[in-house]
Amino acid sequence: MNINSAKRTLLIVSIVAAVLLMAMSSPVRKDVTAQQNSSVALVNAASYETAVAPGSIAALFGNGFSTQIQIASGLPLPTSLAGVTVKIGGKTAPLFFVSPSQINLQVPSGIPSGSATIEVFANNSTNATFTGTAVVAEASPGLFTINASGRGQAVALNGDLTPNGTAGQLPNARAESAGGIVILFATGIGTTSPAVADGQSAPASPLANGVGETTVSIGGQNAQVLFSGLSPGFVGLWQINVQLPDSLPTNAATSARVTKGRISLETTLAVTGRTDLGTVAGIITDGLSGGRLANATVTLNSTGGVSATTKTNSQGEFSQSIRAGNYTLQVSATGYAAETKAVTVAANSTNTQNLSLAKQKPNVIVIVADDLGYADLGIQGSTEVLTPNIDSIARNGVRFTNAYVSAPVCSPSRAGFLTGRYQQRFGYELNPDAGDRTSGLPVSETTIANRMKSLGYATSAIGKWHMGIPSQFLPQQRGFDEFFGFLIGMHSYTVWNQPNNPIYRGTQTVTETTYLTDAFSREAEDFIQRNRQQPFFLYLAANAPHDPMQATDEYLARFPNISDPTRKTFAAMLSALDDGVGKVLAKLREHNLEENTLIIFFSDNGGIPRTNTSLNTPFSGQKDQLLEGGIHVPFMMQWKGYLPAGVVNSAPIISLDVLPTAVSAAMGRKFSDSSLDGVNLIPFVSGADITLPHTQLFWRSGTTQYAARVGDWKLLFFQNSTRLYNLATDQSESTNLATSNPTKLAELQAIYQSWNSQLPPAP
Ligand code: CA
Repeated sequence: MNINSAKRTLLIVSIVAAVLLMAMSSPVRKDVTAQQNSSVALVNAASYETAVAPGSIAALFGNGFSTQIQIASGLPLPTSLAGVTVKIGGKTAPLFFVSPSQINLQVPSGIPSGSATIEVFANNSTNATFTGTAVVAEASPGLFTINASGRGQAVALNGDLTPNGTAGQLPNARAESAGGIVILFATGIGTTSPAVADGQSAPASPLANGVGETTVSIGGQNAQVLFSGLSPGFVGLWQINVQLPDSLPTNAATSARVTKGRISLETTLAVTGRTDLGTVAGIITDGLSGGRLANATVTLNSTGGVSATTKTNSQGEFSQSIRAGNYTLQVSATGYAAETKAVTVAANSTNTQNLSLAKQKPNVIVIVADDLGYADLGIQGSTEVLTPNIDSIARNGVRFTNAYVSAPVCSPSRAGFLTGRYQQRFGYELNPDAGDRTSGLPVSETTIANRMKSLGYATSAIGKWHMGIPSQFLPQQRGFDEFFGFLIGMHSYTVWNQPNNPIYRGTQTVTETTYLTDAFSREAEDFIQRNRQQPFFLYLAANAPHDPMQATDEYLARFPNISDPTRKTFAAMLSALDDGVGKVLAKLREHNLEENTLIIFFSDNGGIPRTNTSLNTPFSGQKDQLLEGGIHVPFMMQWKGYLPAGVVNSAPIISLDVLPTAVSAAMGRKFSDSSLDGVNLIPFVSGADITLPHTQLFWRSGTTQYAARVGDWKLLFFQNSTRLYNLATDQSESTNLATSNPTKLAELQAIYQSWNSQLPPAP
């Protein structure tokens, strides 16, 4: 709990101010007498104890200081008043008040502890007319009290700024509840940070905090000190905000003492039971993952000035007791949008407030490799082609070992990823024929880029499009602000300007001269550079390591030990792709964007060994096939600073999950849409959801192949035979259990037919 600094400047309400001003600037009858006519005695102005601290308010008693009473008319305080000047330890003291028998002054700062000489120069004399000795301590707490005795009811405010006291002690006085806040007023704090010049009022910003520990005992228990420093706008006035202990015995004379170097005299506070307190409690969650949010700041503010701040615990829970009334509840956490809500707190009851905070939107980059096999990356076990940059995505994030694409070939696989829907639903099941220059991703479908763009993202597609050539199918018509690349399913890496397959920037053909993978990397870096100050979505669709097998000498030279020329070229092509991923990551780091960027990498389908020497180990099958080798792909995701690092996740997932994951991240909240087949993966990765993203996955590729994965079981219709595999024990799909387990076979066939019945007929 605390009283915020803005309110602190206003918190000396008139009644308390009057009491304090009386103490600071008016004579008090007090049993302090000078020993002789010409000697004086100096005491703490609040407690009348003899030890005084530098900078504190003190009262000097004597006889014959002046013939008149004079009060300082403003700040800074004068050093001469009614013809009187005072020096303590040789330093001139600012004066509040002078009368014939009493001078109220500020003890000059910087006087060392011990004895100090007091010299009073009365009647404008240049020689000391009165002398004495001050007892100086580093700090000497004296609490102001209502009856000006230094004992009894302390001058204090309650949490709502009413005077603390029993009825009749001061107008509107009331007792504060145990657990509530009181503000005590004292003098003798000693050194502050920042220091305040003698005679000057204490600043409000920054506040002058006491140096060294202040402890406060209330009712014999330690109370939490929320602020101990100079009261803004006053000279030498020490303000201590404390929270009363919860379990305090309650009465009108609960003891209150302050210790700072020395222990103050015992004063009292009026404390009552907690009958007027209620509680606000709840659970704060991360809107994106659904997980509990630890260390979120929860603040309650009332217009009357009551304020409380607490933090959520490791389970995202908070609970705050506070006086009944109407409050504004604000919840905030680093990296999240704050939530504000009006709440009403009733006495002796709990108001439950469970809120979720939207995560700040990250940049999103999806990198898709073309015809990359499951075993082709270093992190996937390859020792021949090292891919340190791609591997780093897994090392800094999550690697999925049971990740699938929705089709075993390029175009329908990309259609599934781009829409988050099984592409069979909209009749985009097979690759277009080589000569087909009219078909494309149906315009009825909403793409990931459409969705990201509508959420305020700058969007770009770089690389292989393969979603249609006619104008209505072009990237710029499908949600991408920018496009650089080619439109069909493959392209030479070294012969760029082909009439039937040019390289485009936007809708204009360009003359490119850079090895194509490097050109795409350059464009990706440039897009990030240009959009570094706003959220962006980049779809980097490399055509590597799809054939034709072409590489530069620079990349080929990295593999002197590979003798097979095709394999060597494959390694070089993949190495160029890895360099490109490295350039993208370096560009993010250059602009300090890595912590706030979600990066997803996967292959659009399995490898095709006979064409590009890719490896699908340990799976059988390849591109074009619904055996694991055609659809079970490398898949990894990083979001530094948010998702865990170095995690291997074996839950079955599918490329259709990319869209809801990216859109959820862009919204900062879990996003779902009944038209989608994919799910937001973040709750499963963060651990907030311990169920599986999918219990069933399906494939259909024309009339010749279909498959379903249900748990560890896979139904596959392939090459005119129905097969049943247990992937938990048979990853390579070598043992067909269709005959030996007809019950499981029938179960999966029924599940598949239920899915298939939703679809248009297979082409
Ligand atoms: Ca492909």
